[in-house]
Amino acid sequence: MRWGLEGAGEALRSPIPWVALTATLALSAVGWIGLERSRSDDARSQFDRRTATAEAAIRSRMLSYEQVLRAGAARIASAPAVSRREYRDFVSHLGLEERFPGIQSIGFSERVKASQRDAHVKRMRAEGFPDYEIRPTGERDEMFPTVFNEPFLSRNARFIGFDAYSEPTRRAAMDRARENADAAITGKLVLIGDAYRGTQPQQPGFVMYIAVFDKDVRTLGPAERDAALRGFVFSPFRVHELMRGILDEGVLQVLDMQVYDGPSMSPENELIDTRTAWRVTAADSVPTFSRQVSFPMPGRLWTIRFISRPEFDAALQHTRPWGVLGAGILASVVLFFLTVALVAAWNRAHHLSMRDPLTGLYNRRYLEETMGRELPRARRLGESVGVIVIDIDHFKRLNDTFGHDAGDFVLERTGELLRAATRNSDIACRFGGEEFAVILPGATLLVARNRAEAIRAALESLKIEFEGTPLGPLTVSAGVASMPPHGQDWAYTLQQADRALYTAKQAGRNRVVAAVSD
Ligand code: GH3
Ligand code: MG
Ligand code: MG
Repeated sequence: MRWGLEGAGEALRSPIPWVALTATLALSAVGWIGLERSRSDDARSQFDRRTATAEAAIRSRMLSYEQVLRAGAARIASAPAVSRREYRDFVSHLGLEERFPGIQSIGFSERVKASQRDAHVKRMRAEGFPDYEIRPTGERDEMFPTVFNEPFLSRNARFIGFDAYSEPTRRAAMDRARENADAAITGKLVLIGDAYRGTQPQQPGFVMYIAVFDKDVRTLGPAERDAALRGFVFSPFRVHELMRGILDEGVLQVLDMQVYDGPSMSPENELIDTRTAWRVTAADSVPTFSRQVSFPMPGRLWTIRFISRPEFDAALQHTRPWGVLGAGILASVVLFFLTVALVAAWNRAHHLSMRDPLTGLYNRRYLEETMGRELPRARRLGESVGVIVIDIDHFKRLNDTFGHDAGDFVLERTGELLRAATRNSDIACRFGGEEFAVILPGATLLVARNRAEAIRAALESLKIEFEGTPLGPLTVSAGVASMPPHGQDWAYTLQQADRALYTAKQAGRNRVVAAVSD
């Protein structure tokens, strides 16, 4: 078997290579899609894990801030009056900068009723704030001016005297903290502070409040509870700084976060968008993954939308297993060419198995196969089929006289002549030995007989010389039969031709005899 391009055209007309190509390409595609899907699933679960981490980090950090505020409230409540000095010590012992980086300050807003206002202002002026006033000015029944705000840096000091209760957003949170005796945060505020690690000085933020009562109010009625209120401990949070402190780089590499105050994701409710808060991200990039959660905060509900970072999405694109797909396609193509070569080899082997090697004529096997196809067709078309059986006369003698090679040479020349004498649709074959047959589709007995005679005459007039020796006239005997359209089968017709050949031999050879029709 040879492997080459020879016979590739014929092999390409066979469905086998194409089926193989389609199947292996389909397999590669299915495998690749499966791989892609599992990769995408992995990325999704990585993204989901990081969002869960971020959520947990925010929750636990807010909880600890709340605890710090509770401690502040407890400190104020623990004595009838806490001095500025004591409060400052308390806050500095908490180590806000190192341990609670998101907290700007811890302040205390003292409850001042209208009747207590003058005494309060006097006291504060005596404590070292000579210009002290409750701001905004104006008559109010109840005020909560900030008296402590530690650490006492300029950004915090300017709130001394500010009555947060006069401002509706803060007031709503204070009322909630007071009613529930629990922590409550405000809605979105804009908090002015210092620029910090690349964040803006003016940022969205919120304030957390915890009410300070004289006694344990959990069992008291509303009136008694209200009488026990001393003020609020509070902490302002600037969201950019807060989130920067909570989210680690590992999380920030994978995702961005949009946080909204309340259930609606409208721009006026936006607390932070980490794509733009302290870094620059193309806002038009569409994230591959996103997840939205309702996030309960003390006294409020936030909405957080997590989206995958462009880098994360790009990494997913870049690490596509193209190599696997390429290898699959390459393997498919290689297999395709192998299949083409294999089919071509099969075709050649089949071709060879149908030929007589000495003369190049078809062999008997081919004839049987072809007749199986041809006869039903001829019957359908109402055509007759002529059969000529040819046998070389005294061939044994020729072999004996001139040698076996000379005999072979004669067989080859005979083959050549028969091939030349048969038209395209005719089939010349070597039956074996020095016997040949010619099938003439469409030929009647008379036509076949004439053709046999022509062949016989042509062979007789052949001048054959083998290695310089003339071999003398070559004579053959032929038997002719034909299969009428509605007649007998192939075996019977061949037998008739054989009998006619036998008759020709008996009658003295070198002649054509046609079978006698029944
Ligand atoms: P007849 O006129 O009765 O046909 O006599 P014949 O000698 O031709 O017939 P026979 O069947 O007695 O002998 C046929 C011979 O053909 C015998 C065999 O040696 C020879 N032969 C068969 N095949 C080959 C072949 O492939 N090459 C050669 N050189 N001789 C072959
Ligand atoms: Mg013979
Ligand atoms: Mg013979």
